[in-house]
Amino acid sequence: MEYDPDANTFSGAPHTGLPQVMWHITDVCALTCPFCFSTKSGLGTPHKYLEPIAERLKQIGVLKVDFGGGEPVSYERFAEAVDLCERRSMHLTVTTSGVISPRSRRWLLENHERFTRVIVSIDGTSMVHDRLRGRIGAFDDAMGVMTDLLDLGAKVRVNTVLTSVLTQEVLTDLQHALEEKCLPEWCLIQPHPSNAKEYFDTYAVEDTSFRTLVARVHEESDAETKVIERPRSAYVGYWTLHPGGRMRPQQTGAEDGKGFHLLEVSLEEAMLELNKVPVKVPTE
Ligand code: SF4
Repeated sequence: MEYDPDANTFSGAPHTGLPQVMWHITDVCALTCPFCFSTKSGLGTPHKYLEPIAERLKQIGVLKVDFGGGEPVSYERFAEAVDLCERRSMHLTVTTSGVISPRSRRWLLENHERFTRVIVSIDGTSMVHDRLRGRIGAFDDAMGVMTDLLDLGAKVRVNTVLTSVLTQEVLTDLQHALEEKCLPEWCLIQPHPSNAKEYFDTYAVEDTSFRTLVARVHEESDAETKVIERPRSAYVGYWTLHPGGRMRPQQTGAEDGKGFHLLEVSLEEAMLELNKVPVKVPTE
């Protein structure tokens, strides 16, 4: 199997091991999104794990690491983790809320070329986004970093979680705001109950509502911004590496699969565990 960094998709022959992993390098995040699927343990990856983890990810076949969290860019050793993965020729993406310190923001802008995608999470127009994220100014922070990245020529994608508070009008307003900035790629995501928080059900949307909102986006599209859809089912089978070192596959419900600790099993045992879950990667 091969990873195409331009398209951010995989193709080719069946893969030995795991082609991509979501590395929640930290669970620390200042925001309080009700649909968050991070475990929000408040922990970051122990520094002594960084190199052994990068090495083991390479050994199990990882071609691309998606850094997430928590807020990965704020993780104190994020630059080191990026170096360690790069040295092992793994491709990288990173997802950020944009609510980061000036220092982290500067680092991201200076290092955007190291990522095949810098993904900014924006879940509505200003008031809706700030309410969902639990922080006034979160929308301005996200749009600001997105705009600066686009101006620098970064490969930017916006992820939007389609929640029940998102009316078609709000979605269209957001669409126009993103298109005005010439955003190349916009990914619409159905909330997934993995590690569901207390009010998840209030904000979740079922398949029909998700499809209706996505259809509206296609109708309104200027065809310049590529629209990608990720229904809940798309994430079933994705493996997440948690800050403590445990690998767990997403399932259909709130509880991820039990998985295994990446550094506490042998390579052979890790491969056996990975082979129990059919490989799932984006192909288009
Ligand atoms: S920004 Fe991300 S990690 Fe933080 S609460 Fe929201 S979804 Fe969770």
